[in-house]
Amino acid sequence: MVKAIVGANWGDEGKGKITDMLAEESDIIVRFQGGSNAGHTIINNYGKFALHLLPSGVFYNHTTSIIGNGVALNIPYLVKEIDSLVERNVPMPKILVSDRAQILMPYHVDFDTYEEARLAGKSFGSTKSGIAPFYSDKYAKIGFQVSELFGSEKDLKDKVANICTIKNCLLEHLYHKPLLKEEEVFNTLMEYKTMVEPYVCDTSAFLHQALKEGKRILLEGQLGSLKDPDHGIYPMVTSSSTLASYGAVGAGIPASAITDVITVVKAYSSAVGAGGFVSEIFGEEADELRKRGGDGGEFGATTGRPRRMGWFDAVATRYGVRMQGTTQVALTVIDVLGYLDEIPMCVGYEIDGKVTKDFPTTVELEKAKPVLKTFKGWKSDIRGITKYEDLPVECRAYIEAIEQEIEAPITMVSNGPGRHEIIYRKSAYCK
Ligand code: GDP
Repeated sequence: MVKAIVGANWGDEGKGKITDMLAEESDIIVRFQGGSNAGHTIINNYGKFALHLLPSGVFYNHTTSIIGNGVALNIPYLVKEIDSLVERNVPMPKILVSDRAQILMPYHVDFDTYEEARLAGKSFGSTKSGIAPFYSDKYAKIGFQVSELFGSEKDLKDKVANICTIKNCLLEHLYHKPLLKEEEVFNTLMEYKTMVEPYVCDTSAFLHQALKEGKRILLEGQLGSLKDPDHGIYPMVTSSSTLASYGAVGAGIPASAITDVITVVKAYSSAVGAGGFVSEIFGEEADELRKRGGDGGEFGATTGRPRRMGWFDAVATRYGVRMQGTTQVALTVIDVLGYLDEIPMCVGYEIDGKVTKDFPTTVELEKAKPVLKTFKGWKSDIRGITKYEDLPVECRAYIEAIEQEIEAPITMVSNGPGRHEIIYRKSAYCK
């Protein structure tokens, strides 16, 4: 049985918490895309952690954590992240790395940094983790697959030479930066080989066997639908697919194995990086929500930079939920909104004088103005409530309005950052 946990919005929906929570009843947790560019914040018995590369299931003794073939594998980062857990008394997790994962190289980080600097004011707001150059190289067939570290040295050296020729052309003539040296690149790969060797295996075969044995598998997505390169706000997107359907490709399992798609939806909006954000708010209103948001404010887990804030965007979320193939929704951070007298929700986009509920392409999105509907606030702290019926009536009305708008069953309502701060709910949308 495979469940995917993915985001419907721009990321930072609280997928880490939901994964950590569901990992308790799972055997295997798989990261299938992205890299160390976005973080998941998890609060549990060991403390507060910001994970970037490891799946959020690493805190349990009974789980196996997999870095799937679809991930941008930063090997020193992986080792550093494992060490940082063990240093804080988390038992050494069982980790497997796909032999088909590709390696994020130091020069990918450099190219990301140089390109952002070159674009200056027109930059994408990259975290400069090397993700875009990494995936570009993967699809240009000049990436290094983990398996190649264990193959012929001569072949690897030849490939290094070819890659250096291509990269050095850009370094010399476009960026005017120091050139790559073949020997250094090769030595880095050999260092990475030693570091990653204990974890490498054919994870697709491992998952195939696990499926046969009826093991419970979670796929953990990074970022959200609106950052998908095909279906998101291109080009202000990430460089690997954020959709549950890609989970099959990035983990190496059949698409038909994914039977449950839990889409995490945030009760208000936040986004990082540039791009159209129709329900965005500014000034004091935004500062207040940012300060109160998430656990300890809405600031990037990787970069610490303030996130852009907005009201719940039903148009974007309905689309995000649809693109994920959602079977159930976990609505998070609802507790944060308890301070508001009134809560606006964006229920339509006005584009060239016409109101639509369909999420448009980027060109149209830039012109969209929010159509807002206002809900009464509940003006109380709802943390600690464990039954849906015990939530204030205004809070339930807000949740049920979101459900109507996004056309998917909200089966979980998260009212605090902790692992067990969750309210299960029967939805009229459930079959
Ligand atoms: P992810 O990338 O989707 O895992 O999301 P992040 O970890 O970046 O952001 C979620 C933030 O919200 C984290 O700081 C979580 O601890 C916190 N969080 C998750 N669910 C809740 C919730 O229901 N209430 C509150 N107050 N914080 C939450």
